[in-house]
Amino acid sequence: MRILLVEDDELLGEGIRDALVRGHYTVEWVRDGLQGLAAIRAGGFDIVVLDLGLPRLDGVEVIRRAREGGDATPVLVLSARDTPEQRIAGLDAGADDYLIKPFDIGELFARLRALGRRQRGAASNLMVHGPVSIDPVALSVTLAGQPVVLQRREFMLLSKLVESTGQVLSRRQLEETLYGWEGDVESNALDVHIHNLRKKLYPELIRTIRGVGYTVDPPDQADLPQA
Ligand code: CA
Repeated sequence: MRILLVEDDELLGEGIRDALVRGHYTVEWVRDGLQGLAAIRAGGFDIVVLDLGLPRLDGVEVIRRAREGGDATPVLVLSARDTPEQRIAGLDAGADDYLIKPFDIGELFARLRALGRRQRGAASNLMVHGPVSIDPVALSVTLAGQPVVLQRREFMLLSKLVESTGQVLSRRQLEETLYGWEGDVESNALDVHIHNLRKKLYPELIRTIRGVGYTVDPPDQADLPQA
């Protein structure tokens, strides 16, 4: 999952970013409302984590303008403003959830997982695809009940593909999920991760769409591994 963090407090922003990276999220961090709005409009994020008291453009205004522009990316608001009126203004502007500062980082993770579930229309955190199970809390993967050891980026790539089952994801989308704005990605890095996932899980899991990207087919239409 790729998260946009909009937070002007350096210390808090750094703490959140580092925690999210450890939790196998890709994070882009911007420090004011205008940059936040521009990043939302540029697209490619699964969830926006948004402070309300921001320089240049207030958080509520960021949500309002993003929604007016038709963007539906889930927004989790972080705020020290704790009067009901302010929470109501944020939610009415189009925020999906609210966390009052100071908060426990574990609660932030739980709320991000809840937003992720809502997006997938799923009741459980566990993502199951045929014989493959992905546990985003334990950051672990099993194949037919047996643990499979994945590297951080392999885990992120697998999660993104399985989350998007039935959709074709372009190389660019996948590279953004893995590397964000880091740039300077080795041109074959994605292919290496795909190769490793096919080897560690099973080759038919990820289908190449030539000239476009990759897809994971719905389990009932997919080739399952031979037992
Ligand atoms: Ca602030």
